[in-house]
Amino acid sequence: MKNLINAEIDTTSRPDDRGFFGEYGGSFVPEELQKVMDEVAAKYEEISQDPTFVQELANLHEHYTGRPSPVTFAANLTKAVGGARIYLKREDLNHTGAHKINHCLGEVLLAKRMGKRKVIAETGAGQHGVALATAAALMGLECDIYMGEVDVMKEAPNVSRMKILGAKVIPVKTGTRTLKDAVDEAFKAYLKDPVNQIYCIGSVVGPHPFPMMVRDFQSVIGVEARGQMLQMTGRLPDDVVACVGGGSNAMGIFSAFLDDEDVKLYGVEPGGMGLDTGAHAASLTMGRPGILHGFRTILIQDDKGEPLPVYSIASGLDYPGSGPQHCQLHDIGRVEYTTITDREAVEAFYALSRMEGIIPALESSHAVAYAVKLAQELDGDRNILVNLSGRGDKDIDFVMHNYPLVEYEPDEKSTSSYKEFLSHIQQVRH
Ligand SMILES: *Cc1c(COP(=O)(O)O)cnc(C)c1O
Repeated sequence: MKNLINAEIDTTSRPDDRGFFGEYGGSFVPEELQKVMDEVAAKYEEISQDPTFVQELANLHEHYTGRPSPVTFAANLTKAVGGARIYLKREDLNHTGAHKINHCLGEVLLAKRMGKRKVIAETGAGQHGVALATAAALMGLECDIYMGEVDVMKEAPNVSRMKILGAKVIPVKTGTRTLKDAVDEAFKAYLKDPVNQIYCIGSVVGPHPFPMMVRDFQSVIGVEARGQMLQMTGRLPDDVVACVGGGSNAMGIFSAFLDDEDVKLYGVEPGGMGLDTGAHAASLTMGRPGILHGFRTILIQDDKGEPLPVYSIASGLDYPGSGPQHCQLHDIGRVEYTTITDREAVEAFYALSRMEGIIPALESSHAVAYAVKLAQELDGDRNILVNLSGRGDKDIDFVMHNYPLVEYEPDEKSTSSYKEFLSHIQQVRH
């Protein structure tokens, strides 16, 4: 039988029967949880071949989320940078402001079909929590969201959104009080009642079948963008760029291009304050194989295999591992993984806002920043497609407070170069 959700993507990118993408992935969980994972896998297998389910999800995408999201040619940015053309896949325009609603609707539909009463999840920047709380409100399920205390403070508006939507937000006080700790706590809660609850993971991570399932739900991004680029430019993009935290928005857009050997794929990891400072979350660039949250990944870890604290200005990228398919694509060299620092991301955040009237999420700003670098190196005949995974409303206060613009007069805009403009961004934060 055919998987109808990812019918248009590369069929060779299915994991093996135990959920391995090469040597990564699988399922490393306690026995009782394995039984539940097997049930989820079986149910997903069933629904992914069920035209009614696929139609129900497609209806929600169109009439609830507002899909297809457009592709925008960033003409002003392209001109300012000088070089290859930059196109943006506008996941920032989705209901709830990011790509996460794509898989949350799928996961909550699945939960309903499994007869679950409650969905639980972790959240970093709060985007996954808001998207899941939204889907749960729509479909009448209870929702518990685990969130690191640091992120609770940093992302206050999203905390309010989740509460208004009827979710319970549980602040996590362990470890670095960020994303990894939130996942740990959500897993613990799941183990307490795997019958009535289901853990809706927020990215292409965790035990099988989640990396495959979330990827399939996100593949709508790539399928749409592929057709849109063909229609707008008459050909496939030359380069596709996406930021990688756990890696769901990147897998969503990459999955439609894996078979197109001429399309170069770039995954952008958070370089934080610089790779040499240790304050980053560039797991594929700096990590080693290891096990985290029930799956084999490439992990930033200490000598004993314990995950080390990681850091990024973008809460949604602040994770010590990456999805198993990314690890495989990294090892076989199909995707090139690179890094962008906090500072470079903030520069792209301002540049896209000023030049295109689009305020990007700090996560997505990493992809924009790398596309700018790439465009400068490439000639004007190339087309770069950037996955603009989300909007930056959640980040505006944080950026204004820590990276204010100084001595910048709007009338300089026409005369100052990209570089000149960026020199007006002050850095209060260290
Ligand atoms: C959560 C989030 C990310 C990171 O998650 P991935 O699974 O790596 O896509 C990126 N961008 C935005 C806007 C997010 O909310």
